[in-house]
Formats: sequence, C-alpha cells, structure tokens
Amino acid sequence: MIKYLSLALVISVSTACASNVVKAPEDVMPFVNNYLADKNKHTGIAHVNRPIEIVFDHLEGQYVGWCKVENGKGHIILDKSTWSFKTESWKRELVYHELGHCDLLYGHVHGTMMHPNIIGFLSEEFEAQVKKFFNHKFMIKNQMLGNGLSNLVED
Ligand SMILES: [Zn+2]
Repeated sequence: MIKYLSLALVISVSTACASNVVKAPEDVMPFVNNYLADKNKHTGIAHVNRPIEIVFDHLEGQYVGWCKVENGKGHIILDKSTWSFKTESWKRELVYHELGHCDLLYGHVHGTMMHPNIIGFLSEEFEAQVKKFFNHKFMIKNQMLGNGLSNLVED
C-alpha cells in the first residue's frame, strides 16, 4: 500500500516569543541537524523560521507524516510504526518533507522532496533535490502553494 503524507497548514500571524528551535525525539534529531546544516549551506540561514516540535504518534490510515503551523509554531507528527522499519535515507527525506511544510511553508510539488508521498531518492539524486529544495526561486514559488488552508493531499 502506498502511504501518503498529509498537509494541514493553518497559518496565523503572530509574534513568536519562543526561540526558533526544533524539539524532536532523539532518533529524529540527526535528520533535523542534517536539514539545518543543508539549509545553512544553501541559504545562509542555520535555524528554522518558527519554533517546531516533532513527536512520534500513531497516524491514521495511510499517513506517515503530518504538519500543522498554528499560532506561530510548527507541529509535526511522524508515524511511529512506519518510522521503525524505514531506511535512514527514507527517514531523512520524510523529515525534510515535513520541515518543508512547517519551516518553509511549502505545499506539495510533484517529483521533488515535496511530492505527496516519499519518493525514496537515491543518495546522489538526493543532493540535487536538496539543492532544489533550498533554491530561492523554488522557495518563493512553493511557499505560495503552502500559503493556504487547503488540504493538498493528492493521490
Ligand atoms: Zn506533505
């Protein structure tokens, strides 16, 4: 069965008083740190745009990851049972995807790391995708896709 990712973005304008750090389970932090290092490398920004908390939980049905931005904070849920049997590269791609929603406010973009489901890019392809993911033009264009209240889950 193909597993899809959900996007539920609720944008609200507010001043965040908490510092913009990512709180995540120990298993997830290495991938968050990869993300921040790549973000810094490609954009010069080494932090997330809002406080983000990542937790493991059980997601219903086909969902493997979920992001919501509310009151200036990002909330990410990763499906615990799926995480437990996936490869390191798959996990990295999932974390980038969900941070793409919660940090960069991306919607879904086919054929990229923001594809509605995790593609499973090979390592050499992954690096090209990372470059695209943090590309300034890609950012401007796809942040607008995420700038709504719509559910962009596609099948
Ligand atoms: Zn998604």
